[in-house]
Amino acid sequence: MEDKPLVAITGASSGIGEATARAFSAAGHPVLLMARRMDRMEALGLPNAVLRQVDVRDRNAIAAAVRDAEAEFGPVDMMFANAGIARLADIGRQPPEEWDEMIDINTKGVMNTVHAVMNGMMDRKRGTLVMMSSIAGRKVYPDHTVYCGTKYFVHAVSESLREYLSAHDVRVVVVSPGVIETEVLSGVLDQETLENYKNNKVKMGGGIGADIVADLILNAYRLPQKALVQEICLTPTRQSY
Ligand code: NDP
Repeated sequence: MEDKPLVAITGASSGIGEATARAFSAAGHPVLLMARRMDRMEALGLPNAVLRQVDVRDRNAIAAAVRDAEAEFGPVDMMFANAGIARLADIGRQPPEEWDEMIDINTKGVMNTVHAVMNGMMDRKRGTLVMMSSIAGRKVYPDHTVYCGTKYFVHAVSESLREYLSAHDVRVVVVSPGVIETEVLSGVLDQETLENYKNNKVKMGGGIGADIVADLILNAYRLPQKALVQEICLTPTRQSY
């Protein structure tokens, strides 16, 4: 059986990143897993896995992790720029430090992640960038002000990168989920916002599983390099907004 190429994931310690790590590993890929919580990545117990404690705000740390993993398993063929936080809050009372953190992780962190692999993919004339945006990167929601800003950023950068990279046969896939059941709400520090979000979630019958997102990413990746799923927009059926 032919060796499967290396797949790298940021934010692989929980939620959608963890589910995607499991899905690609089960499909036979070696994986580079990056996040701050090493114990959570170790607990996955995946074979052929390089685990690195990486904060996506640290450009050099991502580049070093990619170098280490590529030395062992060959070039990264897919990078999932997934790490992100959602400090949802009433914008009038939100402390600016919360914006700083979100902007640094969700926008600069994504650029740092892409930067570590983009030129290699162009040289090889193959590769896939999977960019984690959100339905909140397509439209705005109450108390999502800066979060939406960061995800609109991901959408805009992805469109531009797709245009730039298409001539090099590198694919750019944007992932835009609605409500998915993960630990993302642990980042919401504004209690009223958190309550409202949870009430809305109950009204729509709950979010959907991260494994469903992971399967869609795997299926998009598996298409021939010539075929590109430009965007995966997935919501619970009852999430009508
Ligand atoms: P989780 O909170 O379960 O996962 C977030 C992941 O990001 C964790 O692995 C966390 O790891 C990692 N992370 C956060 N900050 C950093 C950092 N500075 N450096 C490295 N890793 C970091 O939530 P989700 O799985 O839901 O979130 C994943 C992505 O999906 C996010 O970008 C989120 O915005 C997006 N999304 C989620 C939706 C949802 O409803 N759940 C809907 C739409 C988009 P650690 O803390 O160990 O570093």
